[in-house]
Amino acid sequence: MDTDVLVIGGGNAALCAALMARERGARVLLLEAAPPEWRGGNSMHTRNLRCMHDAPQDVLTEAYPEEEFWQDLLKVTGGQTNEKLARLTIRESSTCRDWMRRHGVRFQPSLAGTLHLSRTNAFFMGGGKALVNAYYRSAQALGVQVRYNAPVERIELDGNSFVAAHVGNERITAKSCVLAAGGFESNRDWLREAWGQNTRGEWPADNFLIRGTRFNQGVLLKQLLAEGADSIGDPTQAHMVAIDARAPLYDGGICTRIDCVSLGVVVNTLGERFYDEGEDFWPKRYAIWGRLVAQQPGQLAYSVIDAKAVGRFMPPVFDGVKADSLPELANKLGLPLDAFMQTLNAYNAACVEGTFDHTVMDDCHTENLAPPKTHWARRIDTAPFYAYAVRPGVTFTYLGLKTDETAAVHFGDERSPNLFVAGEMMAGNVLGKGYTAGVGMSIGTAFGRISGVSAAQASLSATNSGVNNAAA
Ligand SMILES: Cc1cc2nc3c(=O)[nH]c(=O)nc-3n(C[C@H](O)[C@H](O)[C@H](O)COP(=O)(O)OP(=O)(O)OC[C@H]3O[C@@H](n4cnc5c(N)ncnc54)[C@H](O)[C@@H]3O)c2cc1C
Repeated sequence: MDTDVLVIGGGNAALCAALMARERGARVLLLEAAPPEWRGGNSMHTRNLRCMHDAPQDVLTEAYPEEEFWQDLLKVTGGQTNEKLARLTIRESSTCRDWMRRHGVRFQPSLAGTLHLSRTNAFFMGGGKALVNAYYRSAQALGVQVRYNAPVERIELDGNSFVAAHVGNERITAKSCVLAAGGFESNRDWLREAWGQNTRGEWPADNFLIRGTRFNQGVLLKQLLAEGADSIGDPTQAHMVAIDARAPLYDGGICTRIDCVSLGVVVNTLGERFYDEGEDFWPKRYAIWGRLVAQQPGQLAYSVIDAKAVGRFMPPVFDGVKADSLPELANKLGLPLDAFMQTLNAYNAACVEGTFDHTVMDDCHTENLAPPKTHWARRIDTAPFYAYAVRPGVTFTYLGLKTDETAAVHFGDERSPNLFVAGEMMAGNVLGKGYTAGVGMSIGTAFGRISGVSAAQASLSATNSGVNNAAA
């Protein structure tokens, strides 16, 4: 089989690439590893994208200028970002929404309890599932060919040029190709290898849950890195959230997140606290808790609150364990009673309660307690008490392929003439570590669109110069 532009992947980045390439007149084939009912990768779990804007715009309030977006990225990545590509992403985020609307995506104002993002993030009406469905509908209407259940096992290269993709026994040739097959977060063996064994003899990654798709196995990322493509990022860097320990291994999505950490305390299986639960606003801290829990024995911890916290956080999908007293709670959780009570009593005694206000960095804090709780510290003393067991939930990994402003894959610092990359497979160029909500979709949309244009141009030049990969 032969086409002009082959797009590998079926999430946001792949769909943006396919639509842009098709708009430029290329014949486009998209290969999605998943069956139709699971199409859309991690993108189907998303809710919003971060957008630069200089004045209020439909669902976005106030302004979020380029410089502020850039400073936010600089802060969370600790400088592990490519300024040129980051600014490209930021600028694209200010202009992409009209194009998204033309392909059927609709936006809505952010709801209360969604991490206070109404100024910076545009929410998709119906969430990422509706976005993905809209893009597939538009792709179909424009004549993009889509094949499901089509996991690409390897791609064939001639030096640094793309030649063909292999799916089962089939060899699919194309003049150019966009890789948009996500990270490797679904590949538990690779996560195990990357995280290794800890000093307790545990393999922490064995206890990780994957928040999104099972189809991002990193097969092509591994192949490309083995064949000399330039890499970016570190295999142990991943966006990791503390999620309900009862969440399924894959695809638990947003509703398994436990958002009451800053309203109570978190203890490990020894009944001990291990980090300042009130260090900063929850939207700025939620993504560090997966890694913190990963460092605890058995990679398990418990978020404990009392009745005063109820109604102040997004309720998770499963009910918490409920008890009328703290000792009863410890027993129900199977925690060592003495240690748990010592921790809770010490915490309660150390609380200096000022004016509680969860919307500001308030003055409720602990004194002479290690670790401290620096804000929103209130005694846990009002029945009923609740606890949620939490485990590390991997959102996506950061290891990827190095790229440039044309989205080309690089080999030994040389850009490939016809192989491009978008989305999580290259997000590490902009986001080397850390996270700021909504930037995953900003990067995927920006580089999905750029890669689609680059791939269409490459296929056009191949046509003009008579290159035919089908014959290779
Ligand atoms: C629960 C959850 C909530 C999130 N919320 C947000 C949010 O609100 N805002 C935000 O910006 N980001 C969010 N993210 C992150 C966001 O999902 C990613 O940044 C973004 O979706 C990445 O898009 P992508 O197209 O690169 O990858 P994906 O959407 O994961 O798509 C990868 C695709 O590649 C396919 N694939 C994989 N291997 C192969 C292969 N060998 N052959 C063929 N196809 C293959 C997969 O089936 C999949 O369709 C969230 C992630 C999760 C898990």
